[in-house]
Amino acid sequence: MPPALTSSVWNRRSWLSAAAGVAGTTALPTSAWRQLAAANEAKQAPGWIDAHVHVWPALTNAFPLAKDFGPEVVQPSSFAPDELFSHCRPCGVDRIVLIQMNFFGFDNSYMLDAIARHPGVFSGVAVIDHEQRDLNQTMKRMHEKGVRGYRLYATADNVKSWQASKGIEAMFRTGAELGQAMCMLSDPEAIDGIEQLCSRHPQTAVVIDHFSRIGMRTSPTEEQLKTLCRLARHPKVYVKTSAFYALGKKLPPYTDLIPMIRRLLDAFGSERLMWASDCPYQVEAPHTYEASIALIRDRLDNLSDEDRQNLLRKTAERVFF
Ligand SMILES: [Zn+2]
Repeated sequence: MPPALTSSVWNRRSWLSAAAGVAGTTALPTSAWRQLAAANEAKQAPGWIDAHVHVWPALTNAFPLAKDFGPEVVQPSSFAPDELFSHCRPCGVDRIVLIQMNFFGFDNSYMLDAIARHPGVFSGVAVIDHEQRDLNQTMKRMHEKGVRGYRLYATADNVKSWQASKGIEAMFRTGAELGQAMCMLSDPEAIDGIEQLCSRHPQTAVVIDHFSRIGMRTSPTEEQLKTLCRLARHPKVYVKTSAFYALGKKLPPYTDLIPMIRRLLDAFGSERLMWASDCPYQVEAPHTYEASIALIRDRLDNLSDEDRQNLLRKTAERVFF
């Protein structure tokens, strides 16, 4: 095969026209060339997107923990991009949304550095102080560095206090202007309060992490699922089907979560759902990266190819890339 045919810059059209030209001069039947062209196209299709991963450095003076956090919260002791790639690339995942952890306070520098070092691979969800004075400027600066969302710790109490917070108000407004999502690590009890914010800010994208953690502490209840699905009436609300290691039976192959995924598919449609692993937690034994992506890729009967593309790539691409 000529070297050009293996080049990654070859697109489908050049492949087909070259294939047609060369086919005329060789004995290879047209169908074989078509097959080769299709295989080449598949190889060049963008890979899957993991919408939620944390990376962090080993603890050093360069990255001190925020006060209130001791070294015991940092488990594993580090999780660098190269380690992440060793898990996700064999599964065909080539873009990842990085989520800043709270134990470095408002210091997002390690994550921002990872985004800069790997152009086109990462998008970021940062943790910032919504009470700060120059919130708008901070959000613009973050946007320039590849930040497409902010992490908010949506406990029932926090969400209650946010209803009257000028900082949260400004954050939602600026998020809508800049195309940055409000990403909620929420408890089921916080969903009603989140809905009030969604009603006031219909232009702001809101992403609910990990099924709003329904099924983390107790089995999912019908009431909790109904409450989460009610958020679907707000067109800019998205849900991550993620963190399988932490929900339900908490055991691979996680098929006990399928009814919950089906409920969300019915309520939101796949175009508002996105798969995510929640590494590094998803790669602690007995959990594996492959087991997480396989639940969506292989184990949902009758999932259309379009739904699969949405869950594993397109929804996250629209919101975060
Ligand atoms: Zn997480």
